Amino acid sequence: MDSKKLTKAILIAMFAGGILGGILNLFFMDSYIVEEILVGNIFHVIGQIFINSLKMLVVPLVFVSLVCGTAALGDISKLGRLGGKALLFYLSTTALAISLALSLAIIIQPGVGLDLPTEATFATKEAPSIAETIINIVPSNPIQAMAEGQMLPLIFFSLLLGIAIVMAGDAGKRVEAQFQDYNTIIMQLVVILMKLAPYGVFCLIAKTFATQGFELFKPLLSYFLVVVSALLIHGIVSYSILLKMFSGLSVTTFLKKMTSVQIFAFSTASSNATIPVNVENTEKRLGVNNSIASFTIPLGATINMDGTAIMQGVATVFIANVYGIDLGMTDYLAVILTATLASIGTAGVPGVGLIMLAMVLNQVGLPVEGIALIIGVDRLLDMMRTAVNVTGDAAGTVIIAKSEGELDTKVYNQV
Ligand code: ASP
Repeated sequence: MDSKKLTKAILIAMFAGGILGGILNLFFMDSYIVEEILVGNIFHVIGQIFINSLKMLVVPLVFVSLVCGTAALGDISKLGRLGGKALLFYLSTTALAISLALSLAIIIQPGVGLDLPTEATFATKEAPSIAETIINIVPSNPIQAMAEGQMLPLIFFSLLLGIAIVMAGDAGKRVEAQFQDYNTIIMQLVVILMKLAPYGVFCLIAKTFATQGFELFKPLLSYFLVVVSALLIHGIVSYSILLKMFSGLSVTTFLKKMTSVQIFAFSTASSNATIPVNVENTEKRLGVNNSIASFTIPLGATINMDGTAIMQGVATVFIANVYGIDLGMTDYLAVILTATLASIGTAGVPGVGLIMLAMVLNQVGLPVEGIALIIGVDRLLDMMRTAVNVTGDAAGTVIIAKSEGELDTKVYNQV
């Protein structure tokens, strides 16, 4: 199946899954066969197998592709420049995203006058401190970092190994050639697993829609809609402006070619699980050189969370409104700063954004239990914000590649 047909198949699977799930939720969830066997077992098992098969590729792909990419750069100063650009783009777009979300929430004021039961509790997991996050970038044991799927330490180790390969002369050349071969093979693995995607996406989406009752949305509709609007504005308008401004490339081509990646992110709610697909897409369809994509996509999946920051901004205003607490300008600035820094420590896996929200709420003295109010609609929002998160990673990658002269415009513009 070529990639266009595959994208179409995935898109159809997503809609079909959503419609079937919605119908099951409304009319059939009291049947044992539907709830337990179809949704709880068949959809669940196939969906999880699909997610596992994506995750299976993440560590080997990031490791091999990053070592190759760094070795191919052949020059350490270029690496530093690339890292600087990536960090600047990722952090500033996150700050932009949350400012946008806060502005929208302040105008619309979701949650004002809402009488939600506020005695609910939310057991928080401890969010890591900034110092801890920085120390943990250097792995004391790279194998352990790989086994636990910790991205930043894995990125650090792979970069260092790539640099050492460049510096090691002939021995380095031989090892680099080996890594290039592994890279080709792993990309082939991605292609094999993509063939399963339509089935996996169908089951994941059908299960989510079948189990998420629509009743949950009613009291939270204003919160939900503000988050969705901010996600759409940022995902479409902000990235388009940035892309046009800094690369001059066609915005419609970018958005069109991102669809399949966004569907993966949407159905898995995990930027990490989407790394293989995003790397493949930016290289093969958007024309970005492997030496850039292999670095900026995994890095973005780990530290760039624009969609998550948007949810956190709106959630802060919503929770303050429900509890009748006034926030001032300094509070908003604190929210922007904390959420931007928190995005570095937010792993690209489902639901973490909500845990990191605890850190943001603490910062401005809002009750952390407020999280319990919005948890009901978080799964769907998690899916949407993850799609925005991965779009940001790809937009950054394209812009940086273009500025480095590492983007093949012929491939980019090819329909
Ligand atoms: N699920 C998001 C991601 O993987 C993180 C989050 O917002 O919970 O990008």
